[in-house]
Amino acid sequence: MNWMDMTQPEIAETMRSLGAPAFRAKQVAEWLKKGVRPADMSNLPKDLRSKMEEIPFGGATIFRKYVSSRDGTVKYLFALEDDNIVEGVLMRYSYGNTVCLSTQIGCNMGCKFCASTLNGCVRNLRPGEMLSFLCEIERDEPPQDGKNRTVTNIVLMGSGEPLDNYENVVMFLKRVTSPDGPNISARNISISTCGIVPKIYRFIEDAPHVTLSISLHAHSDEIRDTIMPVNKAYRIAEVLEAAKAYADRTGRRVVFEYALIGGTNDSHADAIALARRLKGMLCHVNLIPLNPVEERGLKGVSREHAYKFCDWLTKEHVSATVRREMGTDIDGACGQLRRRVLHEING
Ligand code: SAH
Repeated sequence: MNWMDMTQPEIAETMRSLGAPAFRAKQVAEWLKKGVRPADMSNLPKDLRSKMEEIPFGGATIFRKYVSSRDGTVKYLFALEDDNIVEGVLMRYSYGNTVCLSTQIGCNMGCKFCASTLNGCVRNLRPGEMLSFLCEIERDEPPQDGKNRTVTNIVLMGSGEPLDNYENVVMFLKRVTSPDGPNISARNISISTCGIVPKIYRFIEDAPHVTLSISLHAHSDEIRDTIMPVNKAYRIAEVLEAAKAYADRTGRRVVFEYALIGGTNDSHADAIALARRLKGMLCHVNLIPLNPVEERGLKGVSREHAYKFCDWLTKEHVSATVRREMGTDIDGACGQLRRRVLHEING
């Protein structure tokens, strides 16, 4: 048991077992909501705080921070209590700020273009750890212009496959959207999955207000098989079926992510074939020029080419945009920052 993962009744029970009067539990819950450690809970007596410190906190601390001089994007490496490190990003947009959080340390999905998965999944992140990332970012970058919070939007698109850490992710979403917690609207939260179909159906029931993104990256099983091992288990037709179920249930469009990989899925014929598959669906395609990962040997495409591909889709009446590049001066795709720093530390 640790503080950040405790529910309100568990906090009350733990405080009782430490011999504290009932009103202390409320105070502690208020602090934990903000990710504050027992040592810093300033309205609690010192001896109580030191007793509380004997229980693990279960949160993260900022280990490294990189600020983009181009657009103010901040990339964080968080350290966890077992000394693992994992990434998070704060991106600034005109409508508010988005954080991109990780759901696992590493990943087991094995996508051929992704750095997060190179050494498999080390472990799942717990809800308290994911909440702690958010709290640490908010404390590190306090709100500006009289706003009462820094972060308005969350995307679970850091390292890891959220639906492979299902229970923890759903619990995190419950807590982060709760009026007793950060109270961020589910509509301002997106999760991205590589397409674990049965879990998508479950997710539609458990978190219908959260925006669903699916990493499609190919229009045919033939191509998808070569870049995403998950496609051997769940074929494109099944993934699109699940996407339709989401759109039907929620009335909201599914976002398909499509990383443009030079010579693999980026030709005019690919665009036409993709449009044919998606025609008539309530969806949007988010094009991402591949961020080449050294160890992977796959080619990227120019932004000009990505815009061309986007036009091809739009002409076929498929809604599409090219993802904005953020923080390009402070390191690239998912998992790359963690890998680079692990190399630096471990030599
Ligand atoms: N496991 C989730 C979240 C992954 S990260 C998923 O698969 O959706 C978010 C997005 O970045 C995914 O679409 C992922 O496929 C993509 N991605 C990973 N590595 C990339 C790279 N090197 N260049 C471009 N996109 C990448």
